[in-house]
Amino acid sequence: MQPRIADHAPQTQDEAPTCNLPAEHHSVYCPTCSSRLVDSRCKLVCKTCGYFLSCADFY
Ligand SMILES: [Zn+2]
Repeated sequence: MQPRIADHAPQTQDEAPTCNLPAEHHSVYCPTCSSRLVDSRCKLVCKTCGYFLSCADFY
């Protein structure tokens, strides 16, 4: 297994309507159970209770 390196370096694609979750900045914790949310594609998911934030909720 390789270390979790962001293989999608933020480049000049700010015009693309893709989800741009900050790779390292999201020290986000579940408001329900205070577990750390896990980055899952365009969402942050709480593995404990199933709570999640989509990128639409971030911005
Ligand atoms: Zn939770």
